[in-house]
Amino acid sequence: MSDQVKIIVADDSALYRGLIRDTLQYKGHEVRVATNGREAVELVVEYRPAVLITDWEMPDMNGIELSKMIRKQPQSFVHIILLTANSDKEQVVEGLQSGADDYLTKPFHPGELVARVAVGLRMAELTREIQEKNRLLEELSLTDPLTGLPNRRAFEQWATRELSGAVRHQFGFWLVMADLDKFKGINDSYGHAAGDEVLRRFSTVLRQNTRASNICARLGGEEFVLALSHIDKQGVTVALERLRCGFAEERLEFAPSLRVTASFGVAGLHHGVPTDLDGLLSQADAALYRAKQQGRNRFEFSENVSPASREISLSQR
Ligand code: GH3
Ligand code: MG
Ligand code: MG
Ligand code: MG
Repeated sequence: MSDQVKIIVADDSALYRGLIRDTLQYKGHEVRVATNGREAVELVVEYRPAVLITDWEMPDMNGIELSKMIRKQPQSFVHIILLTANSDKEQVVEGLQSGADDYLTKPFHPGELVARVAVGLRMAELTREIQEKNRLLEELSLTDPLTGLPNRRAFEQWATRELSGAVRHQFGFWLVMADLDKFKGINDSYGHAAGDEVLRRFSTVLRQNTRASNICARLGGEEFVLALSHIDKQGVTVALERLRCGFAEERLEFAPSLRVTASFGVAGLHHGVPTDLDGLLSQADAALYRAKQQGRNRFEFSENVSPASREISLSQR
């Protein structure tokens, strides 16, 4: 894909194609031409141009149909300039309503063509900047600033989708709530900055133990959540044991002899028992509470998770 080609011209008339291309190339623009609507769509997909200049009448599809088709595609902004054969205002109205941004009547004034293309390029650049800023804002609103992990909101979006997939397709789905042990004492003894360092360290270990298809997130404070899917109870046990030990073995620069641990509570989706995300989270929370009561640095499964192989058969279906 080239990012140089910013302008596509679609016209079935060789004369007009040449005129438009030459005028714009003379002004230093890189231009590609299409002789019909189908070719234009292909070029738009290939080059993601800033501006598309399309004729109204073409043999396979007209400019209106082409505009509509391009607007339906989930791609970056294209400024569409419709070429109309005459100054028929009905055509202009219909064209703008169908998704075109501007129009030019044939025969056109070369200066006007260049000026309108410049407007289109400006519009496309502005739109690109806005889209990029929106993307950044969206990313920020879903990220925990301290650890860089997804935040609660991102987790809820992801887990809600994944959970309904798990219910529909009957695959194993587990939520693990994690909470650092005696963390308040670390803040009290070593200071808040040291506490933050521990939170970041836990995030790193959590991330290292999360498969690309799963998610881990910071819910807030020293509470984290991990979602595991397509895995049975045995697999969860192995993964959590690795995570628990991995974190307990971490050495911290501010206190090399200090060992920090975490406790975990696990809830799983049950075959035939529809559960919502909040329900699963509170089951995991109750299991976490038991892990704390039973001495910390351990994980406990929710009482709703059967000790037998029910989850195993679920994941093997
Ligand atoms: P337990 O083993 O029962 O979980 O004990 P705990 O001390 O970890 O639990 P508690 O909920 O009493 O303390 C949590 C502490 O986490 C209290 C709060 O000061 C600290 N904390 C919450 N958010 C942050 C943060 O962003 N940075 C730091 N450094 N500390 C935080
Ligand atoms: Mg034509
Ligand atoms: Mg806590
Ligand atoms: Mg804690």
